[in-house]
Amino acid sequence: MNVIIHIDEIFLKGSNQHLFFRQLKTNLEKLLPGVRTARIESGLWLENIQESQLEQLALIPGFANYAEAVKVKNEMEDIKKSIDNLIGNVKDVKTFRISAERSFKKFPLSSVQIEKEIGEYVRLKYNWQVSLGKPDLNIHIAIGKDTAYIFGNTQNAIGGLPTSSSGKVLALLSGGIDSPVAAYKIMCRGGEVSLVHFQNQTQVTEEVSEKIFDLAKTLSRYQPEIKLFMVPFANLQRQVVIKIPAEYRMIVTRRLFNKIADKIARENKFLALVSGDSLGQVASQTLENMTAIYDASGLLKLAPLIGTNKKDIIDLARKIGTMEISARPYEDCCSLFVAKHPATKARLKDVLKYEKLIDESIIDKTEVISYHISHNSITLC
Ligand code: ATP
Ligand code: MG
Repeated sequence: MNVIIHIDEIFLKGSNQHLFFRQLKTNLEKLLPGVRTARIESGLWLENIQESQLEQLALIPGFANYAEAVKVKNEMEDIKKSIDNLIGNVKDVKTFRISAERSFKKFPLSSVQIEKEIGEYVRLKYNWQVSLGKPDLNIHIAIGKDTAYIFGNTQNAIGGLPTSSSGKVLALLSGGIDSPVAAYKIMCRGGEVSLVHFQNQTQVTEEVSEKIFDLAKTLSRYQPEIKLFMVPFANLQRQVVIKIPAEYRMIVTRRLFNKIADKIARENKFLALVSGDSLGQVASQTLENMTAIYDASGLLKLAPLIGTNKKDIIDLARKIGTMEISARPYEDCCSLFVAKHPATKARLKDVLKYEKLIDESIIDKTEVISYHISHNSITLC
């Protein structure tokens, strides 16, 4: 089938619009194999899309809505015929309206005249009532220079900006619910997201990585190419357990995550670190503790879920397909040794004092294994 998509935010981009359009086209072509795209006046025209790809399409960042559509010659008889075809596929319609717009101003009829003529045709032929407010079926006619695009009700898409149009960032991906959603939110604002995961092992093995791989693969439905860095963390973790008092272990561990992430980000020219932090949700997310944790890296920190409630995060996790994977049991780095009552108002001064006990030269020696993820497949870089 063919689909028309309409943009919203890209319209605000003035003379840079074409760059955002180009990125959106590239993303769609890579993410939806076999689909051909073309720029048209009102958005993009997608050919050869499978019905099974529509669910994914609706969650690809960068456009406002979409609808199955047909393209015909811009003549009234052809338009009427295509409307008959369109109507053949719809059910449960009692009311309708016609919404016409012309980007080709030399078309002999005005938009209102097109709406009147086609509206009358449909009303008599199908015996439906006109309703301008909330019709069951809104039949859109977009008249271009040689062609007209005809489509019915539009479906909302996720909106935002095309992934990879705003620069590169590194997202800290845990096995939890929040961080994959945070990564997705940044993709929806045009960020090109790479992922880093700190693993509770001395060596990264296929088996223990499966959950993280599955999360990353799911995110690769929305951003065509993703880099994933896996960092075996057990050696550092051992030091934390031996040297740091229980109530500070989690904060020191998070700081070490940020230090290693900072190093990877700078080496790869990423401009910010992204976390799944949500204010007040767990002990690491009090304002005091976040101050102490974020201090470990001088890079910009983005926490797109900071003001989002857990329920809304879970809803989005379900929508993008990460919830089921996040819910699988997994031994997180921190779950093993976190104190029953971790410090919730840590002072940076105290944290730094304890942190000095850790031999940070290990950070430079820490192994980082990189993978490339695309189309649901993972390759070692
Ligand atoms: P999440 O559901 O994302 O795990 P959370 O509510 O469980 O978040 P924490 O476990 O305190 O909160 O983690 C806060 C943030 O720190 C995570 O959202 C993630 O960005 C980062 N993080 C935690 N553990 C890891 C890890 N093992 N590897 C990489 N990043 C991590
Ligand atoms: Mg967690």
